[in-house]
Amino acid sequence: ESDPTNDSVEAPVGHIPTTATEVKVNVSIPEAAQRAADTSADGVGLLRLEHILLSTGKTPEKYVADHGEEAFIKEISEEIRKVADAFYPRPVRARTLDAPTDELAELEGGESEPIEHNPMLGYRGIRRSLQEPEMVKLELRAFKRLQDIGYDNIEVMFPLPNDADDVRRARELMDEVGIDRDTHEWGAMVETPASIRSIDEIIDEGVDFVALGTNDIVQFMLAVDRNNAMVADRFDDYHPTILEAMAEVIEACNEHDVDTTITGQSGSDPEMAKFLAEKGISSLSSNIDAVDDVRRVVARAEQELLLNAVRDTSDGPTLPD
Ligand code: PEP
Ligand code: MG
Repeated sequence: ESDPTNDSVEAPVGHIPTTATEVKVNVSIPEAAQRAADTSADGVGLLRLEHILLSTGKTPEKYVADHGEEAFIKEISEEIRKVADAFYPRPVRARTLDAPTDELAELEGGESEPIEHNPMLGYRGIRRSLQEPEMVKLELRAFKRLQDIGYDNIEVMFPLPNDADDVRRARELMDEVGIDRDTHEWGAMVETPASIRSIDEIIDEGVDFVALGTNDIVQFMLAVDRNNAMVADRFDDYHPTILEAMAEVIEACNEHDVDTTITGQSGSDPEMAKFLAEKGISSLSSNIDAVDDVRRVVARAEQELLLNAVRDTSDGPTLPD
């Protein structure tokens, strides 16, 4: 603690400050919604549909075949509603399904899943959704149902696009389902090297926000399987190319007034939170247990930025007339 060479970021305990950079929370299990809402989180930065759907024990296709489309929509909307209620009016960003085929294969109906050598590089996220638009439209209809009954805090996010074309096609599906993009924010995850390089074109598709999915960014940019213990020591969120890529995305988004957030595991890491806050990210999304600590670190980083800015301005800050 008193080691002067230890410059790691430590959060002061106690009081939870307010911050200009929003700090949100990731929620996978709707049952955890209340605990998540009891933190200082400004909303849900990532609500994954994976747990909601996989915990039925059936693949989505099997579920629809057995119970019908209406039951499928109801299942999703009721689970999301638990989260939306716990957080209202704070925003909840729901993400369309991103389940790899090897996980789906273990469920009832899983025998119809393709067998892939590299499921993480395969048929998942928006790739599958665009290939099976009828299925993702049911998910989108569940979001719309909540919007129709008055939940104006539900936002829509698409995982794993590679380029603007993927994002445009996702937007068209939202439009087909009738989600009002004027009143409900929508956006895309940026998780592949291609999507990082396409950030300007993705922004041009009219997204309200972009989310950095660092679990996948690190996996794909460093070519390190995120689930392979043999190369776990090479899974480095702080690799210079990763930091540079994130800074580039934030800069491009800030130029166009598009919100940026981080939803990967490293969004729970105070050191990373400090780096991203300094780069001007709009929000961070952390695990439930990390939210308050991340906020304290962000508050301190913001104070330092402000002080440095004031001290660097030789004439002092300009006051409004
Ligand atoms: C990510 O890739 O960082 C992310 C948040 O998505 P997931 O972990 O669900 O792939
Ligand atoms: Mg991901």
